Amino acid sequence: MTEQEANKRFGKAERDLVALGIAAAAIILFVATGGSVLPKVVRSIIGNGSGPDHLLVNAMLLNIALIIFGWRRYRELTSEITERRKAEEIARKLAELDPLTDCLNRRSMEQATDELRRLSNAHGKAVAFVMIDLDNFKQVNDMNGHGIGDRVLTELANRLRKCLPHDIPLARLGGDEFAFAISYLPGETERIDELVAKLFDAVCARIEVDGTVIDSTISIGIASDHDANGKAGEVADGETLMHHADIAMYHAKKNGKNRYFWFEPNMESELRFRNELEAGIRRGVRKGEFVPFYEQQIDLDTGEIVGFEMLARWQSPELGLVNPEIFIPIAEEIGVIGEMSEQLMSQAFQDARQWDPELTLSVNISPVQLRDPWFAQRLLRLLVENNFPAHRLEIEVTETCLHENIGMVRSLIESLRNQGVQVSLDDFGTGYSSLSQLRTLPFDRIKIDRSFVRELQNGDNTKIVDAIVSLGSGLEMPITAEGIENEKILKVLREMGKLKGQGYLYGRPEPSEQVAERLREKGKLIVAVAPDETGQQAVDSEDTKRHA
Ligand code: C2E
Ligand code: MG
Ligand code: MG
Repeated sequence: MTEQEANKRFGKAERDLVALGIAAAAIILFVATGGSVLPKVVRSIIGNGSGPDHLLVNAMLLNIALIIFGWRRYRELTSEITERRKAEEIARKLAELDPLTDCLNRRSMEQATDELRRLSNAHGKAVAFVMIDLDNFKQVNDMNGHGIGDRVLTELANRLRKCLPHDIPLARLGGDEFAFAISYLPGETERIDELVAKLFDAVCARIEVDGTVIDSTISIGIASDHDANGKAGEVADGETLMHHADIAMYHAKKNGKNRYFWFEPNMESELRFRNELEAGIRRGVRKGEFVPFYEQQIDLDTGEIVGFEMLARWQSPELGLVNPEIFIPIAEEIGVIGEMSEQLMSQAFQDARQWDPELTLSVNISPVQLRDPWFAQRLLRLLVENNFPAHRLEIEVTETCLHENIGMVRSLIESLRNQGVQVSLDDFGTGYSSLSQLRTLPFDRIKIDRSFVRELQNGDNTKIVDAIVSLGSGLEMPITAEGIENEKILKVLREMGKLKGQGYLYGRPEPSEQVAERLREKGKLIVAVAPDETGQQAVDSEDTKRHA
């Protein structure tokens, strides 16, 4: 029923009050006419007088009809009003509440916050707006389906309700985002801190739905209309408060999730910068601004180059040359890492085809890419498209991959190895992989993280690297040491056994032209030409350069 229709019906119902009035008047008339007509009727029946005046009898009958009509209209009217009340209640609920959790929705939360602020400020109180977001809810949905996802949200709402005072507005703002507003005495922010600590305990306890156990954490952002010293701020309305809490919550996500932050003005500019960075990365992927740099990998015994590790760089028109530690995590988060990595690998395969075929190429692969069930197929397609032999390629995965889905990682590694691609465990020692994981996962190589190698600088601090080297030889996995910065470190490593190594001692990561120049000097550059009829590639010489 539309609002217009409802109003029309209500108007009609109101008009029918007139009908009830007429019926009431009819009753009065009935009493008056009945008083003179009925005794005459009785007397005429018992033969004690003449009958009543016809006109009066008609008037009385008309009165009776009017009374019946009025009463029926009145009954109809009452039931119409009850129905309308019910319909109004449903419409109000639909407009104000989230149907899944029965919490308020975003629109009504804004109004409820404004109302709470009006009342609280009138009594000299501050209002804190608290925004709560479930970490990794997308994964819960993807892995268990939306049915389980919905049950998790309902459970979350119930847990929040239990922890919070019952008379404060609690809302589900959309997806896995909840919020509540609460008043407190200005300056007493520790009261809110305590409440939030309670929420972390209650909400993050494991959730069990139909035998599926879900461990989830939350990130929280808080904004207040008063500052920490209890001074009223410049927050204009509930909407601004909500926006500030959202920024603080985002800040908590960016700083590792499972934590909370109070809003601070500088967070807004950080967020703006971050948004610009995201847009820049997206544009950069479209425009091919990401380029491979290469770091030499050396046989520490002979000092010869045995291969290169490809390290991504972003040639940003605005920011200059940007390091991967800045853009890789963002590319992972905004979902462009796969596309970026494939572009980089294609370029790297083309570059490496110009090198001596003995030289290997290592590429870093993000845990996000390993989650893609088609990753192995994609990689093999790239190899074929670029005519690059699988046995020259080494994939580097970090230990964090092993926490994700060990079964999937194992089958991925196996299928890559079956195609001839080597797989190494990067940054070993920083990610807590267990000995049993190492024993059962068929890695070809372990790379010792540079933080341990750096320790060798101090000479006597060799125990960890020593232990990793023995572990490698026990598991029959060759070792590469990262971060060799000087001769002193090199000397210690050489005494430990037969290792590969890389680091600033041999040179910084450099672009493909410099690598080509370095290899040319060593006579290890092949100019890439299409294979001749014998299937051989031409070796670098003035002759072949002319063909190129
Ligand atoms: P990584 O794979 O451990 O790469 C080695 C990092 O150590 C490189 O940093 C390299 O420049 C730096 N390094 C090399 N020798 C030395 C040294 O002697 N001393 C010191 N202090 N550092 C040294 P970079 O290029 O900034 O890369 C950082 C990380 O970014 C890499 O660590 C890798 O995990 C990641 N990364 C780089 N390229 C890619 C990529 O294409 N895809 C993915 N998913 N990750 C990448
Ligand atoms: Mg690496
Ligand atoms: Mg590394």
